[in-house]
Amino acid sequence: MKKLLYLLLWFIPLAVNAEPLRVFVSVAPQQTIVERLGGAQVVVEPLVKAGLSPHTYEPTPSQMARLARADSYIKIGMPFEAAWLPRIQAANSHMNVVDARDGIALQPALAHDHEDAAAPHEHAEFDPHIWTSPLLVKQMAVTITNALANLDSAHAADYRANLAILINDLDALDRDLRTELANITPRQFMVFHPAWGYFAAAYGLEQIPIELNGKEPSAQQLAALIDQARREKVRVIFVQPQFPRKAAAQIAAAIDGTVEVIDPLAADYFANLRRVARLIAEAAR
Ligand SMILES: [Zn+2]
Repeated sequence: MKKLLYLLLWFIPLAVNAEPLRVFVSVAPQQTIVERLGGAQVVVEPLVKAGLSPHTYEPTPSQMARLARADSYIKIGMPFEAAWLPRIQAANSHMNVVDARDGIALQPALAHDHEDAAAPHEHAEFDPHIWTSPLLVKQMAVTITNALANLDSAHAADYRANLAILINDLDALDRDLRTELANITPRQFMVFHPAWGYFAAAYGLEQIPIELNGKEPSAQQLAALIDQARREKVRVIFVQPQFPRKAAAQIAAAIDGTVEVIDPLAADYFANLRRVARLIAEAAR
């Protein structure tokens, strides 16, 4: 009995320590990265669930209740953050806010206005889709690891070990994408929503956006895009599940090409980027 009591006392503090960190992120690819780093020590929830548009997003009441108990919010510059983070912080003054963009050189938003009733226009000044470059995700992973280690120093060694494995996997992903995209021509690819700027920069490609200032192009702009697609020998028009496809379908029809869906917000980060690179390479052949 005495032995059992001793065991119980021994385990109580461990049980308290084992309570996972509650971390919120903005989009699903960030969730994948934080889960890889945190393992069983974190519970991660993306504010924008898969399939929803981050451009017209607002948290649900149940998410607001969980946000009020969150240990950390890892922001990345999505437009809704500017509208919602002050309200979330007002409801949870203990929440540690981490900026996943720390140490990353941001690109200006490309004709890209993240049109959103809740977000003023100036917040779309920089392109927020930094996770589309595995090299930038390496930097982001270091920032997140430091934040997790600060919040939960008892597991700092675990977080650093997970970081080393993740960086290996990101390097392998980067090598695969580099190989896949090395010699393709044309180097341009046409997308409705310009979410692939950091990906394009990393691999020497150029995205041609169809969406202009968050809207479908006008008839005149559409005609110019069709001319450009012909000139650049584009054969596939890429669309994203969260955005309209009408203009993309019109351009594809005019150039006798096809429409292909790629999703920068997919949670299966590694497989998704490999698939995107393969589709871009196949479209160029
Ligand atoms: Zn976007």
